[in-house]
Amino acid sequence: MPEGKIMKALSGFYYVKDHDQIIQCRGRGIFRKQKITPLVGDYVVYQAENDLEGYVTEIKERKNELMRPPVANVDQAVLVFSAIEPAFSTSLLDRFLVLVESHHISPVICISKMDLLSQEETEKIEKFAVQYEGIGYTVIRSSAKWEDGLTSLLPYLEGKISVFAGQSGVGKSSILNALRPDLELKTDQISSSLGRGKHTTRHVELWSIGSGLVADTPGFSALEFSELELEELPGCFPEIADYGERCKFRGCLHINEPKCAVKKAVEENEIPAYRYHHYQQFYDEIKTRKPRY
Ligand code: GDP
Ligand code: ZN
Repeated sequence: MPEGKIMKALSGFYYVKDHDQIIQCRGRGIFRKQKITPLVGDYVVYQAENDLEGYVTEIKERKNELMRPPVANVDQAVLVFSAIEPAFSTSLLDRFLVLVESHHISPVICISKMDLLSQEETEKIEKFAVQYEGIGYTVIRSSAKWEDGLTSLLPYLEGKISVFAGQSGVGKSSILNALRPDLELKTDQISSSLGRGKHTTRHVELWSIGSGLVADTPGFSALEFSELELEELPGCFPEIADYGERCKFRGCLHINEPKCAVKKAVEENEIPAYRYHHYQQFYDEIKTRKPRY
């Protein structure tokens, strides 16, 4: 049986890419019984009816799945954060990072609109950028005003399924436009498909950009930690997870426990105070969350 990847979902059809062919498929009824719906990004087995049409008969095991947008097997989230307008916020960035990490997706941080900064402001942003690189994250500095300033992301998309994320107005559409000028979409057209309210349908599509695939709809629009357990939080801060291995107590959550290596690292400025502060805030937020059932 042939296999392929779902590139687009629209009106009950799944568009399966198998080498250079796109086969328009319907799902078999069995998925309804199994309470599983094929998603864009799924590797599937399909049965061809003819050259152009067929049925999805099996969904291969997923690495992960997002609900908004509904995409499976996401490798990477490109977190676009403007240096200014809207202002750069480590609190919001850390929130996105935790959400992305909790889905086992690798983040890439893209700081946009660098051209709008004064020398002094650039130095301030650069300090943050270096700190996030110190944690192990990739940080890309971008600007629509620099030559290749929007396409510097291109090599990082190769061979992966990526989802863009970030507040409205940070420059996501501008970057996608620059990466795929052949789409010839106007910015506001892309913006609407990027989720500014108009598109509430389940139409989702993966765009080929180089050898990579990018979801046409941004992710992580719901910013609360509704699915995260307290015990998972340290693992969503890589440097806290690292220092946490040296805590006296196994399973230390780095709040009130004695001989906590994380708190020591914060006191000694090995971990920036704002990162630990956000950790504490998110901890409280998850702890005081009302039970869902
Ligand atoms: P989105 O809402 O994240 O898709 O953001 P857009 O791509 O629509 O950009 C929002 C506004 O910021 C638009 O007016 C863009 O022209 C502007 N913009 C985007 N990137 C840059 C940049 O690197 N430098 C400057 N100066 N303006 C930018
Ligand atoms: Zn600890």
